[in-house]
Amino acid sequence: MSDDAYRFREYSGGCQCGAVRFHATELHDNPHICYCRMCQKAMGSFFAPLVGVRHDHLTWTRGEPAVFMSSEHIARGFCSDCGTPLFYQNLEGQFVSLTIGSFDEPHLIPIRFQCGLEGRHPDFSELTAGQIEGTTEGDNDAGWVEGIRATNHQHPDHDTASWPPAE
Ligand SMILES: [Zn+2]
Ligand SMILES: [Zn+2]
Repeated sequence: MSDDAYRFREYSGGCQCGAVRFHATELHDNPHICYCRMCQKAMGSFFAPLVGVRHDHLTWTRGEPAVFMSSEHIARGFCSDCGTPLFYQNLEGQFVSLTIGSFDEPHLIPIRFQCGLEGRHPDFSELTAGQIEGTTEGDNDAGWVEGIRATNHQHPDHDTASWPPAE
């Protein structure tokens, strides 16, 4: 499999509540992480994971993202129902950069570069070095995990005919 095979397949994704869904038929070759302060604030996180999609390769299949202009040049798309950050868009560019975490299969998309390094949290280098304690879902109380599962309002990681499901 060639190095860029991840680019040439169909992808779907959307927000946490399922009100906004997208479909992409090809990705740009730039999946990356941006640590700049504006991306941090827009994600409420330490970085933004983004990959470009050309306009003609992108369809919003359910709903439409709301938009906040973080500057005159940059639109930030998000779900107005649940708040999930969905895209970064330079209005002068030819791509919409979707948030990789909102894809149904984010693990299929590699990370090719990182930018805004000056904004990277100083503890990041410790995460994979094993210096910071880690747990998995299985380390939680089973009853708690089951309670979350039983009342889960998150859209599943695949397209659905309707959402939320009919009673
Ligand atoms: Zn939503
Ligand atoms: Zn940024």
